[in-house]
Amino acid sequence: MSERFLAFCEQCRKQVSVSLVETLEEYDFNGMTYAYPVKRGVCPECGGVATPNSVLDENQRSFTDAVRAVNGIVGQSVVESVPEQYSIGKRPLSRLLGWGEHTYSRFLDGDVPSVDYSKTIERIARSPLAFLLRLYGGRGELSGVAFRKSRDATLQVLRDCGAKIERAAAYIIARTGSASPLALQKELYYADGLCLSYDGAPLFPDRCEAWVYGPVFPRLWEDVELKGIGEESLFGGEVSDALVGTFSGKELEVLDAVIVHVARFSPYVLRDLTHKERPWVDARAGVGDGVPSHNEITIESMAQFFKGLWEDYHMERPGDIDRYMRASVLGE
Ligand SMILES: [Zn+2]
Repeated sequence: MSERFLAFCEQCRKQVSVSLVETLEEYDFNGMTYAYPVKRGVCPECGGVATPNSVLDENQRSFTDAVRAVNGIVGQSVVESVPEQYSIGKRPLSRLLGWGEHTYSRFLDGDVPSVDYSKTIERIARSPLAFLLRLYGGRGELSGVAFRKSRDATLQVLRDCGAKIERAAAYIIARTGSASPLALQKELYYADGLCLSYDGAPLFPDRCEAWVYGPVFPRLWEDVELKGIGEESLFGGEVSDALVGTFSGKELEVLDAVIVHVARFSPYVLRDLTHKERPWVDARAGVGDGVPSHNEITIESMAQFFKGLWEDYHMERPGDIDRYMRASVLGE
């Protein structure tokens, strides 16, 4: 369905109700070609071009965003979306990101962020989990009221449109009180695999790769960048409470089993364990020790491995993963 707009037609010398037609324009500048969508109004009486002023502004922004994108600069609409979707003022947001108090305001006013600033803005715009971790880590920068308002808005975004892997990660962080990226990646791996064998489908659709330190879901690594998360960023029960209803009964059983029986072991124990398991070993066939690889750990290899665990350890429920963990880690 196309919206209709009023515009002044120069040929007909009057206001007409136009329909909009979208085309892709190309603009060559300094050896670069910028492609960007533009909209034009078409006069229903003479067929001439009559584009409403608001649409002309939009076209200008579309061009600017295309130039910014080619140069690794975040689009202006993304800059504007962040304070809005996470219900946070531009000054507290700026402080939360560790920037000068007025930096974010300047970007909103049209100053062009550097590539580094752009990466941060894009990351938090795309990932409610990344923003939530920043919010908890910097809660001292906000009043209690402002913190809770932004926290509730962010949890709403995470619940309604966050990727499932982010919801699962936030739930695990809140329940384990740990945000060790190494451990979290392994916990998500076991949760994904257990869901596959217990529920017939993986917990989330994200690609898993066989990295040097075990199975890794790169999406979580790139978007959330857990590397710098300290104890002060950790979530409380309000986060797990907000997310619990977004999982099915079987998924919760799996997540709780992982939290109790897998997360009790140190990140390095979990790394060593996955290094003995077929999915990681097979995906790294021909790759030397310590050599980076982006080889995929396929759903099929995970399904086969976890099905085997289920049979070998006479598992009836996800919590029976305890038998495997005890036998392979503690030698019981
Ligand atoms: Zn006309």
